[in-house]
Amino acid sequence: MFDLEKYSRQIEIFGVEGQEKIARASALVVGAGGLGSAVIQYLASAGIGRLGIVDGDIVEKSNLQRQTIHAGNLGMNKAESAGLFVKKLNPEVEVEIYPFEISPSNAKKLIEQFDVIIGCPDSFRVRYILNDTCFLLKKPFVHSAVYAFEGEISTFLGSPCYRCYLPKMSQIGGRAIIGAVAGLFGCLQALEAIKLITGYGEILKGKILRLDTSTMSFFEFELKKSEKCLVCNGKLEDIFEENYFGDCEIRRLK
Ligand SMILES: [Zn+2]
Repeated sequence: MFDLEKYSRQIEIFGVEGQEKIARASALVVGAGGLGSAVIQYLASAGIGRLGIVDGDIVEKSNLQRQTIHAGNLGMNKAESAGLFVKKLNPEVEVEIYPFEISPSNAKKLIEQFDVIIGCPDSFRVRYILNDTCFLLKKPFVHSAVYAFEGEISTFLGSPCYRCYLPKMSQIGGRAIIGAVAGLFGCLQALEAIKLITGYGEILKGKILRLDTSTMSFFEFELKKSEKCLVCNGKLEDIFEENYFGDCEIRRLK
């Protein structure tokens, strides 16, 4: 049984039953960077049962401007550093550390063990690996991407998927980012996961929410299943390395 006092403020919203759902749930956070720092911190503090953290990078000085959970851990692997943070914040959470890159060869094995997959990567390659694997394994995929003052978020659960929106990589993202923007979108991803787990509210399915924080303008657009999408139309049968290099266009179906 979880600590009723610790979670009393959210039990006022979700009830003990909702808290039990959170305590029984598992989430895989792919990328313990700017987005991942916020996701990890709020899912751990909410009392999620099991948290998987995947990241093959090490903590560098230029990360600390936004990757707040890694304070004091320069040079350490990010998944390991994040694990130490979670143990301090909420020892009740079972943490699983994967100190390596997610790849076409290990994605299915990792993703099948978790209820909700939260994509916090800094590359299109990983985003496409997550989209395609989550679709094949019928796992919810909470996506976000941030750049400078801007960000977007959506939750993919079956169709439409990320490839309906962007069938292949269309632009090169930059590395410029305000720390608070990454934190904001990471918080929104954690919220999407909590809504998925508890069944409260509405998730961002079939729509993409964008926010330009330099003017505080929000806009949202609907996303429809694309008739050409090789993932949603059942053409892609497995996860193949050939589909995740260069522009990540699907080249091999089976
Ligand atoms: Zn699709």
